[in-house]
Amino acid sequence: MTNTSPEGQESHTQVDLSVLIPVYNESGNVVPLYEELHAVLGGGSLRYELIFVDDGSRDGTAAKLAAIQASDPDHVRVAFLRRNCGQTAALSAALDMARGQILIPMDGDRQNDPTDIPRLLAKLDEGYDVVSGWRRKRHDTLLTRKIPSRIANRLVARISGVALHDFGCTMKAYRRRVLQGVRLYGEMHRFIPIFASWQGAKVAELEVNHRPRTEGKTKYGLGRTFNVVLDLLLIRFYQRYSQRPIHLFGRVGLWSILLSFLCFAGMLYLKYVFPWPWGSSGTGKPFVETPLPLLAVMFFLGGVQSILLGVLAEMVMRTYYESQSKTTYLIDEIRQTEPDGATSRRL
Ligand code: UDP
Ligand code: MG
Repeated sequence: MTNTSPEGQESHTQVDLSVLIPVYNESGNVVPLYEELHAVLGGGSLRYELIFVDDGSRDGTAAKLAAIQASDPDHVRVAFLRRNCGQTAALSAALDMARGQILIPMDGDRQNDPTDIPRLLAKLDEGYDVVSGWRRKRHDTLLTRKIPSRIANRLVARISGVALHDFGCTMKAYRRRVLQGVRLYGEMHRFIPIFASWQGAKVAELEVNHRPRTEGKTKYGLGRTFNVVLDLLLIRFYQRYSQRPIHLFGRVGLWSILLSFLCFAGMLYLKYVFPWPWGSSGTGKPFVETPLPLLAVMFFLGGVQSILLGVLAEMVMRTYYESQSKTTYLIDEIRQTEPDGATSRRL
């Protein structure tokens, strides 16, 4: 294999488009889905590959994928994961394998429609780096999926500042360069447009067809929305503080210590000074009659802990960047004249 990572630049097999499809227990869907994809992409001049990742299925999906791969070895590549690792991890595996210049992930349950692929490509050609699908007429259950998802999408759009309607739609199109260095955890595949946009990519939205599931069962319920919201808090933290965690933890710590001093002062006031200036001082409350001593101690300890946590986070952050030779900046291009006369170098 000549190129196994999205960061890789050269590749012997030239591929324009990689379609990435994680599947878990979709034995009734993979063959019809392959046929649909073949019908859409097969006749054209586009050089494409279909990458299926079998996410530890136990219903015979693997055998069907193996048969599909054998029947169309020029276009189909399949990875079999040893156990069920989750949709995001399976998609990561597909991304790492992909060789195309354009990457389109989609669901393997036929809810996404392969005929949308040419439309996504056309939209990319208008000069975008990411085109995100919007399932405007979504065919899922209302109470456990559509309503929570609508609330989550609003929240994500607001917090991230990226105005999309449907982050959860798997079907999106990316130019390879926006995925450079992107690592996916948790439910984060849905946030790729956000990472990309933060790094300066141009992001567009396109309505895509969404079909009801006809075979197999959905793997998710309401719980997924909570995971999405938690992941969102995490990426917000990452965006703002990943390179300076002490500023967050330290600030919380300092405020907490300040509160602790206020409580301490209040406690002294209540005992020794109160009811002055409303009366003569000295008849105030004993310490044990107010919660202030306890609060003072709690805020003080909490504040110190938080600052120490910040120091720890700084050390972890440095290890993260330095051990993997990651930089805190992202270079698009460096332009300089080399001794041999070359004037531009793209990184
Ligand atoms: N999927 C997967 N691993 C999992 C769960 C799901 O690869 O652990 C795949 C699944 O086969 C499908 C896609 O992810 O291709 C979306 O899953 P599903 O249709 O259950 O989600 P929904 O459309 O209900 O959000
Ligand atoms: Mg589905």
